[in-house]
Amino acid sequence: MISKKLKKRIRIIKNFPEKGILFQDITSITDDNKLFSEVINEIVKYAKKNKITKIAGIEARGFIFGSASAVKLNIPFIPIRKKNKLPGKVYSQKYKLEYGNDEIQVHQNAIVKKDKILIVDDLIATGGTALASAKLISKFTPLKICFFFIINLQNLEGLNKIKRDYEVKILLNTNG
Ligand code: AMP
Repeated sequence: MISKKLKKRIRIIKNFPEKGILFQDITSITDDNKLFSEVINEIVKYAKKNKITKIAGIEARGFIFGSASAVKLNIPFIPIRKKNKLPGKVYSQKYKLEYGNDEIQVHQNAIVKKDKILIVDDLIATGGTALASAKLISKFTPLKICFFFIINLQNLEGLNKIKRDYEVKILLNTNG
């Protein structure tokens, strides 16, 4: 099963980038082309099941898994970027971090109402980034929004913030 392979393979670094964080290093997935490909196939399978028309990836690690999946599905990839990175007209969504605020943006011409969007990121922790992404993409009122995360840090309970309103697929539930 893919969850077992991921559990065995994902490198965990203690106290990176800050004290107290158990950093889940997804380069141990991308280093392994067979496992990387299996992960992409899981995203592709979930996207097909949900008749997804566009993949939105959250900066930065969501770009790695999201764009590879979009190419395989032959559908567009939309980057959800940090503030002031996109050159066109954007929609913005502010959200709270542990210390201070952050903001994510997406191009206003990226999505239309009849789209079904799969938002991809490597990991959900507190769920703040995912919830902000849901709010951002909701501005387009697309037909569907759902989520794919490779890792869920279940002890941080971020998943609860989004699974009430959106379908979510997780490959590995672990603690962080
Ligand atoms: P959150 O908004 O708390 O759900 O954090 C999710 C974002 O932060 C994702 O984009 C992750 O890439 C990153 N992140 C948070 N915690 C970790 C962790 N322990 N290991 C690796 N990445 C993390």
